[in-house]
Amino acid sequence: MSIAHIADGEGQPIGETLSGLLRAMQAAHQRDGFADLALRRDRLGRIAAMVRQNQDAIVAAIDADFGGRSREETLLAEVFTTLSSARHAKGGVAKWMRPRRRAMDLAFKPARARLLPQPLGVAGIISPWNYPLLMALSPLVGALAAGNRAMVKPSEFTPRTSELLAEMIAENFAADEVAVVQGGIEVGAAFAALPFDHLLYTGSTNVGRKVMAAAAANLTPVTLELGGKSPAIIGADANMDAAVASIVRGKLFNAGQTCVAPDYVLVPHSHLDAFVAKALAVAAKYYPDLADNPDYSSIANQAQFDRLQAMIRDAETQGARILTAGTGGGHKLPLTIVLDSTDVMAVRREEIFGPVLPVVPYNDLDAAIAHVNGGDRPLALYVYDRDRANIDRVLGATISGGAVVNDCLIHAGVEALPFGGVGASGMGQYHGQDGFETFSKLKPVLYQSRLNGMWILNPPYGAKAKGLIKLLLKRP
Ligand code: NAD
Repeated sequence: MSIAHIADGEGQPIGETLSGLLRAMQAAHQRDGFADLALRRDRLGRIAAMVRQNQDAIVAAIDADFGGRSREETLLAEVFTTLSSARHAKGGVAKWMRPRRRAMDLAFKPARARLLPQPLGVAGIISPWNYPLLMALSPLVGALAAGNRAMVKPSEFTPRTSELLAEMIAENFAADEVAVVQGGIEVGAAFAALPFDHLLYTGSTNVGRKVMAAAAANLTPVTLELGGKSPAIIGADANMDAAVASIVRGKLFNAGQTCVAPDYVLVPHSHLDAFVAKALAVAAKYYPDLADNPDYSSIANQAQFDRLQAMIRDAETQGARILTAGTGGGHKLPLTIVLDSTDVMAVRREEIFGPVLPVVPYNDLDAAIAHVNGGDRPLALYVYDRDRANIDRVLGATISGGAVVNDCLIHAGVEALPFGGVGASGMGQYHGQDGFETFSKLKPVLYQSRLNGMWILNPPYGAKAKGLIKLLLKRP
């Protein structure tokens, strides 16, 4: 059976179809026992091999879905990142699976304590359109490394990539091992209502709330990888050329449709003009022509394009100055700098998710920190400075899902670092060992010793028990 097409309707309501699929996976999990090291490594190897073999098809599918997605961006941010997460997990999983030693409280010695990592069972993964391969497969790597089976619901806004994903998975995995379920909001809602052993959702904060509410009915634990407004703070002592190069690169990669893209920039008043002039020049140098430039990605669909245009218009009609690097064309939107923005404008209230960059001047670093702390906790924070004390001040006084010093975006590709938001930008984390742990139960086990003093506490409580209790209470 091709699970890829299960959502196309086979005469029964989608909820029942999905429940049947989940039950089959749970039954297989019970029947086959926990996946051993060899099976986990084999599954991770299959993910890597299918991505490697289908590179060109992946590039073509995402390009078609976006109506123009840079080949290099897809190779870097979807293919390389997925391969690197599978490779990292394949190399690390033997160590991650090992029981972990915990210190034993003196009162219980000589018993020993261990944590035994175990697969949870069947994981659910819901992914968005902006990196349609990576956002589906990177969580899957964590789920498989931890020995689970999984159902994946990719975005309906990238139908060709979702179809390719379904085909690749169906070719490389048994239907009760990994399944791809395609469909839109209705299928997503039915999917989120399934009693998974863990549900990882990546997407907008608003839908994240609905997913968590649906999961609550089953007490399904969730990891929510959400969005938000990630600030970049330029310190007074920053290397301006390097900072601008990094921010423009990070903002224009995938045309700003990156959850960890710098959403807006905080710049010292004294550096504002220089920053803006350099940013426009650098953008024009990186992408001399926009409309037909294969390096520059399109806004992925009409709704997103309209949303961004409306956001720019809203800022403009409320008195902001708009400066663009080039003119764009089709669904390609140039770097659009917004000056004199205020916090009533959508561009300052909502996640931008496109190449629109409010540049907000500040007087002193405390004001910049207060600006960040006045909003929701961001998914990422970037600080650019040469002064260690300034960097430490920003890092020490703000909270965010992650942070990068003197660059942006690249922490998301480092498998050794956990990835996840805090507050409105999400909860829980994955990547590497942290992904393995998210999809595992770390079962605490106490191994009692043959020689132990528990007999002293057998009722009826006599002098020995009372003496021991007295001794225990005396401990400092
Ligand atoms: P979205 O929330 O609209 O859609 C994401 C997925 O949720 C899709 O598969 C969709 O079908 C499904 N869905 C929609 N309604 C649902 C419902 N009621 N119940 C269950 N599932 C439902 O998000 P999007 O527009 O596709 O993605 C953009 C957002 O994702 C941005 O906010 C971005 O910051 C965020 N994002 C976060 C990360 C991260 O790692 N934190 C990564 C990429 C994107």
